Amino acid sequence: MTWAPLLRLKEALGEGSELVIVGGAVRDELLDRPHADWDLATRLLPQAVMDRARAAGLKVIPTGLQHGTVTVMLEDRPVEVTTFRSDGDYLDGRRPESVHLGVSLEEDLSRRDFTINAMAMPLGGGDLVDPFGGRRDLAQGLIRAVGDPLQRFAEDGLRPLRACRFAAQLGFEVEAATAAAIPLRLEVARKVAVERVFTELDKLLRSQNPARGLDLLASSGLLDLWLPELRPMLGCAQNRHHRYDVWRHTLEVVGHAPAEAGLRWAALLHDSGKPDKRTVGGDGEVHFYNHETRSLDLAAAILDRLKASHALRKEVLALIRHHGFHPDATWKDAACRRFLRRLGDDGLTLEHWGAFRLADQRGKGFEWEARQAEHGKVMDRLQTLADQAPPLSVRALALNGAALMKLAGRRGGPWLGDLQIQLLEAVLEEPELNEPARLEERALQLLKQAR
Ligand code: ATP
Ligand code: MG
Repeated sequence: MTWAPLLRLKEALGEGSELVIVGGAVRDELLDRPHADWDLATRLLPQAVMDRARAAGLKVIPTGLQHGTVTVMLEDRPVEVTTFRSDGDYLDGRRPESVHLGVSLEEDLSRRDFTINAMAMPLGGGDLVDPFGGRRDLAQGLIRAVGDPLQRFAEDGLRPLRACRFAAQLGFEVEAATAAAIPLRLEVARKVAVERVFTELDKLLRSQNPARGLDLLASSGLLDLWLPELRPMLGCAQNRHHRYDVWRHTLEVVGHAPAEAGLRWAALLHDSGKPDKRTVGGDGEVHFYNHETRSLDLAAAILDRLKASHALRKEVLALIRHHGFHPDATWKDAACRRFLRRLGDDGLTLEHWGAFRLADQRGKGFEWEARQAEHGKVMDRLQTLADQAPPLSVRALALNGAALMKLAGRRGGPWLGDLQIQLLEAVLEEPELNEPARLEERALQLLKQAR
């Protein structure tokens, strides 16, 4: 069941290399899940791995010699080969002070975080090496720390978050003692570098079962370390449009949104402003007027703190900004076109906005079929209007800046931008106007008015 080119490497390294597949690849192979990379481990020291692989004509890159890692290219794919190693003492709750090469495979497996990640599979057949009961935990769907969870979480504060992430990806439970250790080690988790935290949160969100992971973050207290703004969403009751409170609604939307970073992060943060904006009207109805603005502020602060990429930040904020709009049958065509223009200006496609809206509608928790049908109508209409390719930006006007300057007999200046915006608005109202002669006529009228 393993990837054939790995056998070529095994041959190159020779007898006695004890080359095995380790970590996530073993876990995913046993679960029959796809995985992106193969991690290999060997008894050989890095120099020997490089010498022998090169002698066999393989391309080798010394990517992490101080950790015992070299990368070997097999059929254009990078494969990491790491010498069996143990970790020295952890003094700062983040990284071991040193690593020791040249230990046994069992010792190498014992430094790994969870039993399901601490198995090794010999290449080309042979018994699974499973000193901590990883296979049993895989079968039972359990995330269990290797050794004493309190100690393992004291060594490296990222591990509790990884436990939640794996639970979300695999749909597993966190074993009781492992789960109980998390709240006792929050001070260690707090010290972890934000880049590592972001990577794990992002994987958790893009998983099969993000709601499970997010619930674990909330119940263990990890949420308050990295996303404290979200805590008030728990138990924040909504109105007759919603079956769930703000937190549960959020988990539903995250789970139903396509598993892409922008959509999932937007789902997590889109209603974060609701608790602050909650009011109860005279009729007893709950309102969240203007919560989008507050959600935008919170989302921007959270994504900045987590050092999210500029592209992700932009996409998430755009999705949040437009999530309160429902261009239904009461909207005029011109209003729909103006909406399409705003989406475009914000870098969103109609498809993306629609995918988010559908998940948001689904998360309301009832009348799903009716909502789905309504959503289909909204999208069909917007798509039909978009397909007519109406001019949605100044660039798409039938007269460009030079033509307008010539028409006005003036050089460029602020007047030109103002005129272009006015023309665009006229054209959004009435797309047939976007034709040189008619647009010229309208431009002259506007210029005369402006005088
Ligand atoms: P993914 O599918 O996300 O790559 P993975 O299990 O391969 O999952 P990696 O972060 O790639 O996770 O790490 C590879 C292996 O290294 C893990 O399976 C685990 O054995 C070990 N490992 C990774 N991070 C830690 C950690 N913080 N503490 C202990 N062991 C770890
Ligand atoms: Mg991996």
